[in-house]
Amino acid sequence: MSSSRLADLLLLGSGSDLSSERGVSCTGDLPEASDPTLVARAIAAKEALGSRVMILGHHYQRDEVIQFADITGDSFKLAQAAAEQSTAEYIVFCGVHFMAESADILTSDSQKVILPDLAAGCSMADMATASQVDQCWKELSQLGLAEKTIPVTYMNSSAAIKSFTGKNGGTICTSSNAEKTLRWAFAKGEKVLFLPDQHLGRNTAVENLGLSLEDCVVWNPWKLMGGLTEEEIRSAKMILWRGHCSVHGRFNRQSIDDFRIRIPEIQIIVHPECQHEVVTAADFVGSTEKIIQTVSNAAPGTQWAVGTELNLVGRLAASNPDKKVFFLDRTVCYCSTMNRIDLPHLVWTLESLVNGQVVNQIKVDPETAKFSKVALEQMLAL
Ligand code: SF4
Repeated sequence: MSSSRLADLLLLGSGSDLSSERGVSCTGDLPEASDPTLVARAIAAKEALGSRVMILGHHYQRDEVIQFADITGDSFKLAQAAAEQSTAEYIVFCGVHFMAESADILTSDSQKVILPDLAAGCSMADMATASQVDQCWKELSQLGLAEKTIPVTYMNSSAAIKSFTGKNGGTICTSSNAEKTLRWAFAKGEKVLFLPDQHLGRNTAVENLGLSLEDCVVWNPWKLMGGLTEEEIRSAKMILWRGHCSVHGRFNRQSIDDFRIRIPEIQIIVHPECQHEVVTAADFVGSTEKIIQTVSNAAPGTQWAVGTELNLVGRLAASNPDKKVFFLDRTVCYCSTMNRIDLPHLVWTLESLVNGQVVNQIKVDPETAKFSKVALEQMLAL
């Protein structure tokens, strides 16, 4: 994205610039980012692989990578695409680690899922470890509450947490289907343990299901009993894990108020991983797919401030020249882990495959995969 286009998006100033840290998570020599033949090399390698390769690209990926994706989407759409894909030998997943794990779980044993940079993780997924979640479940069991509690786990979690969810009768959700999954869970049990994003859980419970903020408690995995009293746990309907997205969690109410003063006709649309005060102050809330549809289908001449990842907002602005599309907050930046997948890593991955070398394969162990699949298929069935 050019600096002038970035400045337009940010409305004032140039905001934070992209950190171009380079990963070392590959076993060969990465091409130089300055290599002028990178695009031609990617095209040639993709052509040489033909139908043996499918490239999935998350909406938050860089322009230089997303241009090579066969399918683009949010984590839900890409999980569906992986599940439906039965022919390609290689699934190159341009996204983050937990998404590649889900793709491996949902594809056949003969297919290989590849993450071009193994350092492309997710800070939110890392906020819930298997041992922390096991300890939480043990403490809920000691209170006699585990059997009444349904785990609902956001797609943005490790395979180990998805497996825990499948073993304990729960389901996976995404930002597209969180309401549907919570309604399913409350029809099945009295309480929900929502992992790992507290904001998506709270926003969906309060704004879509009509629960109160008092019905929700936050479980701090670093404290005994989540830092809660027995009474607080017993009376809660939603037990929210203390996790958040390091990108969406930074949008704030002040940015919305500032936009409304500067541009009274502005319409604000944000992702449900944002804080509750941001979601309630916005005009629209939705998954990345819903954000794209809403802005794309809006009337010409309308003005939008969008609270989600900057790569997506940049492409939304470029593909809607008849509207004004701004980034909601000048202090929020790209998802740094998503941005680790760059063109050199993609070229290295594709050329390695052409040479018969499978690099950076993501493989979930069979036991974890078995119960993760139970939870993922429950979501897809809903
Ligand atoms: S945008 Fe947030 S939830 Fe998505 S990969 Fe980045 S840190 Fe994780």
